[in-house]
Amino acid sequence: MQITDQFLRKINYLRVSVTDRCDLRCVYCMKEKMNFLPKNEVLSLEEIERLCDNFIDLGVEKIRLTGGEPLVRKDIIHLIKNLNKKKSISNLKEITLTTNGSLLKKFAKELKNNGINRINVSLDTIIKDKYKEITRFGNLNNVLDGIEEAKKNNIKVKINTVVFKNFNENQISDLVNWANKKLINITFIEVMPMNDTDMPRHMQFVSLENVYKELDKKFKFENSDYNTGGPSNYYVSKNLDIKVGFITPLSNNFCASCNRVRISSTGKLYMCLGQNDFIDFREILRTDRSDDYIKEKIKFALSIKPQRHDFIINSKVKPYINRFMNETGG
Ligand code: SAM
Ligand code: SF4
Repeated sequence: MQITDQFLRKINYLRVSVTDRCDLRCVYCMKEKMNFLPKNEVLSLEEIERLCDNFIDLGVEKIRLTGGEPLVRKDIIHLIKNLNKKKSISNLKEITLTTNGSLLKKFAKELKNNGINRINVSLDTIIKDKYKEITRFGNLNNVLDGIEEAKKNNIKVKINTVVFKNFNENQISDLVNWANKKLINITFIEVMPMNDTDMPRHMQFVSLENVYKELDKKFKFENSDYNTGGPSNYYVSKNLDIKVGFITPLSNNFCASCNRVRISSTGKLYMCLGQNDFIDFREILRTDRSDDYIKEKIKFALSIKPQRHDFIINSKVKPYINRFMNETGG
């Protein structure tokens, strides 16, 4: 079985935020002072697994665990181990992770042993002090060590870099050269207008159109049909051994090919990252409903998946999204 949404888009990709908590406080993602959820509001690992099972039955082939920081969730490896077992007996083909990398050195081997072959590591700068500034207190060396450990364990790493105004715009080609030396693909991402952090979004946002043009002058990009099932457009260059991707929800909308939905750490199914509508599965999971009932609810949710987001960033408009990125995990 393969579920589609009301616009006949095949939905085969599920992103699951396994915790709202994080060991960093990136300035575009969170406020400096965040209130995290009490434990009983967050889905248990068993509840997450049951929800995943139902999605897999309906045709989901790829699950990305995210957060908050997925590696701070207690017993996360247990969930990954259980999901990994399903790969040989169900629709599920891949489990992957988006992580800030701070705990990767500790977890890389266990991740690999439990079927994680590819991860995204978020890294916005390779300058130590700047890293501390954007994450509010992170240690760059932890991430760099984590990346090396992942590579040592044959986990393919991709870097995700949010381009943030007056912060890393002038470091973009250095980041590409650094990634190229390490043979790691890199994707640049536009700031999205999720709930307000401590600085207005229009003071954070940079259009990737300009970033692309600058990089293109230097590297002479060619189009690539490389596709990892996500929203990134990739380019190659004769001057590079890696692919460079761009995720441009604002400057170049990609909703027509959207193949994914997201579950928040509290069990809300968001049909679109850029809209507020959700279906709450936590109560359903906690009130003894059947798997058939859960599947019917999922199908209903997809029948109302919006056509597109309405992201807009300018000084006159307050963000209409009333949640932070750590709830749904990007
Ligand atoms: N903690 C993990 C990490 O940082 O990779 C996973 C969760 S984090 C919310 C997922 C991704 O969302 C990261 O790549 C992060 O840079 C990105 N992100 C967070 N807030 C964002 C925003 N407002 N706009 C665009 N990307 C954002
Ligand atoms: Fe944490 Fe990731 Fe958000 Fe940064 S982007 S604060 S690492 S959840």
